[in-house]
Order: sequence, then structure tokens, then C-alpha cells
Amino acid sequence: MNKRYRRTIIAGNWKMNMLASGIKPFTEELIPLVPDFHKWCETVVCVPFPLLPEALRVFKSYRIRVGAQNMSQFESGAYTGEVSSAQLMDIGVGYVIIGHSERRELYGETDMTVNKKVHAALNGSLCPIICVGETLVQREAGVTNNLVATQLKSALYGVQVDKPHRAVIAYEPIWAIGTGKTATPDDAQQVCREIRAVIRSLYGAHAARVIPVLYGGSMNEKNAPDLLAQQDIDGGLIGGASLKPASFAAIINAANPF
Ligand code: PEP
Repeated sequence: MNKRYRRTIIAGNWKMNMLASGIKPFTEELIPLVPDFHKWCETVVCVPFPLLPEALRVFKSYRIRVGAQNMSQFESGAYTGEVSSAQLMDIGVGYVIIGHSERRELYGETDMTVNKKVHAALNGSLCPIICVGETLVQREAGVTNNLVATQLKSALYGVQVDKPHRAVIAYEPIWAIGTGKTATPDDAQQVCREIRAVIRSLYGAHAARVIPVLYGGSMNEKNAPDLLAQQDIDGGLIGGASLKPASFAAIINAANPF
């Protein structure tokens, strides 16, 4: 499977960190370290809702794409505290993380809510970054591939054949998120290859060739080159290291194939 058919995506997930006033200094430190990054990858930063307008304003001149970290499964209405896909699109947000393990674990998101959110994102013009991944217990029990396949099939349930091409899949082993533990490049590659096989079984060879599969889980400047060199890993979803301009820049540069 040839990587050149797929876009490389390096996506930061700032979680509940940073203030609007920090975005410009962050960007001014990052940009000189990643000259011409848009030649080899799409860089996205997923920020908390209140930071979206400032991120859109600052990142625009540098061609950094802006993402949200969550959105409602509903179109509009009496859902206090929620944000809809239309509201994200209205201000120019391009990406949205869906089904991050922290949302599943801490806020009770299920495969079913993830599926509804994926539909809501794809019915509009958002690119959903759909997160799947296993716990340590599940890995040790040897059920990783089955579990990830089930999560992915559930997330895409009912998505028509012409629709999934805007989706991005992020394989994020839960035991590796924010822990400093990383999947070995071989293990990560093996699951990402399985993810691509699931996409192929659902949507055919073309979809499997073009849909990017990212790895996430304590990716940093040291492990990024080996992870990003894997055949079925098309980029990263990066938490902690995306808050540090030098580390994030090193990861973006590690994705440069030239
Ligand atoms: C994440 O939040 O998706 C993530 C991968 O975090 P970290 O890089 O900090 O493990």
C-alpha cells in the first residue's frame, strides 16, 4: 500500500491547556522551526472551544488548520453546554476529534454516541479524527485487533460508501496516552494495518488507500521518526508534546519524507 496516496497529518491535541494569549507566542516560536512544513504535511491543532477564534485568526497566515476536540451529536436545540458541527463549520473549523478515550472514559461516550457524532461531522464539511484504541488489560488479553475493529466499524456504522473519505482514524492505545509509554513501531504498525484492512472491508481498496491512519500515545521528538516511518502510519495525534513548540516542530519535521 503506497503512502503517497494519503495526506500526512500531524495533529496536536491541546486538551484543556493554553490560553488565547498564548497562541501567538506559541506560533511565533513554532513556525521558524518548521519552514515549508505544508510541503509534506497538514498540521492541525485541536484547541479548547473558547480558543477557536484566536487559533483561527493566528494560524490562518501560517496554514495551520484548526480543530475542535469534541462536538455534539445533535444538530441544534436545548443541549446546554454543547457545540454543534454547524457552529464549528460556521467559524471555519476544519477538524474535530471524535471519541477520544478521555471522552469515552470520563464522560461516558459510547461507540453509539461516537457513531452519531461521526455522522454529524460527515454530513457537514468537518473532517472527523476518529479515535480508537485498547486498554492495557485488553492488550494483554490479546483482543486489541478485534476491539479496534469493532470500535471502527461502530464509529462508521451507516456511513455511506461515498462519505468516509474525509475521515481520519487515530489509533491511540489508551495505556500510552499521557503516560510516557509508547507502542513499539512494530506494534503500532500492526494495528494501523489492521485498521486499514477494516476500512478496505467496509469501503474498498480506494478508501483504504486514501484514508489517513494516525498513531497517538506519548509521541515525542525521539520516537516520532520510527513511528512515522511505518507503512500504515500516516501521521500522529499528539497531546503533551504538541504544547511545546520545539517538540511539536521536531515531530512535524520527522514526518518530512524528503
Ligand atoms: C492524545 O491526547 O491524544 C495523546 C496522544 O496524548 P499524549 O501525546 O500526551 O499521550
